[in-house]
Amino acid sequence: MIEILFTILIFCFGLAVGSFLNVVIIRGHKGEKLGGRSHCVRCGSILSVQELIPVFSFFVQKRRCRHCTRSISWQYPLVELACAFAYLGVFLLAAPSVFVQIGLALGIPAALVILVSDLRFQTIPDGATLILTILGLGAVISRSVYAYDSMAALLIAGILGGLWFFSHGQWMGFGDVKLIFATSLILGFPAAIAAFLFAFWSGGTVGALLLLTGKKHLRERIPFGPFILLGSVLAWFFSSLFFNRTGLGILV
Ligand SMILES: [Zn+2]
Repeated sequence: MIEILFTILIFCFGLAVGSFLNVVIIRGHKGEKLGGRSHCVRCGSILSVQELIPVFSFFVQKRRCRHCTRSISWQYPLVELACAFAYLGVFLLAAPSVFVQIGLALGIPAALVILVSDLRFQTIPDGATLILTILGLGAVISRSVYAYDSMAALLIAGILGGLWFFSHGQWMGFGDVKLIFATSLILGFPAAIAAFLFAFWSGGTVGALLLLTGKKHLRERIPFGPFILLGSVLAWFFSSLFFNRTGLGILV
């Protein structure tokens, strides 16, 4: 019984965090402050409590604002649900240690903000990358193989930095350079190298498909942040499987 209650509580907490992340993503993009009452992004009407219940309000209102009747983005329920399920995973599945749990509880929201911001607005918010960088430094310290880990992160970020510099930001944004530095620190050597390769393969494949199907043109920028995150998750998963190394250090 207590387990069910705990599960529901964690899920609702995840929904609430997801709801906050939506505010961070939208207001961050518009350069607005985080404080102040929640309002409709289209008409600016202040929203009531019933209109702010995660997921529920979205479906009850049939995807429409009650004031201006214009449609509400799928981003809202998707981010809320993604965060809720991620939190269930972090707190219910056996994590190697409480440090890994705290790292994931902070890192997953930061990664979600980066994923959605880059997909929708082609920007990677510095605040979210900073959280991942701090977690990465913690991970490097906990593994105590500083030299390999920091050299791998610098090398990978250096390669992306070169692409950014020589393409004048066409192939790669500087946000991508900072992001891969942070994720490389989190993963450490050799997983960071695998993540880098996964990111390039998946990004290259999807990019080629988008060009071939005419969905994107050569001049258009395809966000690379989502592929860095995808590559990092895959590398983290495989490295814990094969090398018995978790992304946040050998704290087991
Ligand atoms: Zn409205």
